[in-house]
Amino acid sequence: MLDDFFNSIKSRIDYDNKSKPVKGKKNRKMAIPPDLLFKCPRCQELTFMDEFEKNQKVCIECNYHSRLSSKERINMIIDEGTFIEYDEYLSSKNPLNFPDYDKKIEQAKLTSSENDAVKTGEGEIFSKLSVIIIMESNFMMGSMGSVVGEKISRAFENAIEKKLSVVLFSASGGARMQEGIISLMQMAKTSAAVSKHNDAGLLYISVMTDPTTGGVTASFASLGDIIIAEPKILIGFAGRRVIEGTIKQKLPDDFQTAEFMLEHGFVDMIVDRVNMKNTLYNILDLHDFSEDTDEGKLNNE
Ligand SMILES: [Zn+2]
Repeated sequence: MLDDFFNSIKSRIDYDNKSKPVKGKKNRKMAIPPDLLFKCPRCQELTFMDEFEKNQKVCIECNYHSRLSSKERINMIIDEGTFIEYDEYLSSKNPLNFPDYDKKIEQAKLTSSENDAVKTGEGEIFSKLSVIIIMESNFMMGSMGSVVGEKISRAFENAIEKKLSVVLFSASGGARMQEGIISLMQMAKTSAAVSKHNDAGLLYISVMTDPTTGGVTASFASLGDIIIAEPKILIGFAGRRVIEGTIKQKLPDDFQTAEFMLEHGFVDMIVDRVNMKNTLYNILDLHDFSEDTDEGKLNNE
C-alpha cells in the first residue's frame, strides 16, 4: 500500500530530462507539482501539502507563516457557520481613469474570488461575537483604495452601533496608486472611524500579518488598543532601500521585522498562528464586562 502511494507521487513529479535524479543527492532541477508539495521560501525544505495545510500553512521546519486568503483566515479564527459578511458586493471604480486599472481589477477578482482587497463582517471567536476585518493579499497585494477604506469604516461604524469589539488582520502593500489622492484619503477616513470606536469605549485588536506596509501601517493597522503580529513578518512604512538612500545609513538586518518592532515598542506581542484564536479569545474575554454571560458571572464570583 505504501509502495502504491510513493509510485503515485513519483508519477506526478516531472523530472527534468537532462538531469536524472541521482541517488542520495538532492535533485534541484525537479519540478514540483504545486498541489502536492510545499517548498518553504525561507528554509527551502519540502513538505507534503496536506501536512503543511494541517499545520495552518506554517512551515514545520522553520515556523515560516505563509500568507493566507481572507477565507482561510476566517476558517481558522471564526467559529464555523457564524460569519456574516458585510458589503460583499462593493467594488472599485476607476475614478481617475488610470490606464488599465479596470483590467487589473477584473484580473484581481478572478485570482482572488473577492470583489476587493478586504473582507468585513461579524462572527464568533469561541462564542465571543466581534466585528472581523481581514485584508486580502491576493487582491492587488491588499492595497487600500476607496472600497477598502469604505468597507473598513463601515465595519467600525457597525461595531459602534452593536457595541462590539473589532479584530482586524492587516496584509497590505499600502495605498493603491491607481486611485492616487483618493487612496491616501482612506488613511484619514479609517483613522477617524477607529477614533470614534475608541471614544465609544470599545476594544480594537489589530493583528499584523505579512506584509503590513505603507499607508495601512501609517493608519488603522497601528491604531489598535492591542497590536499583535505573526512571527518574523514584514512591518514597515517605506521600503528598506528608500530609507537607506534617504538617511545614507545601513539599516540593521532585522529592521522591519515583527521582532524588531516588538523590541522597539511598536508591537505588543508576537503570536504564532496556532495560538492566535485562543489569544484573541483571552483578550476579548478579559475586556468583556457584560454581566449576562457565563464568563461575566464567573468573573464576579
Ligand atoms: Zn521553512
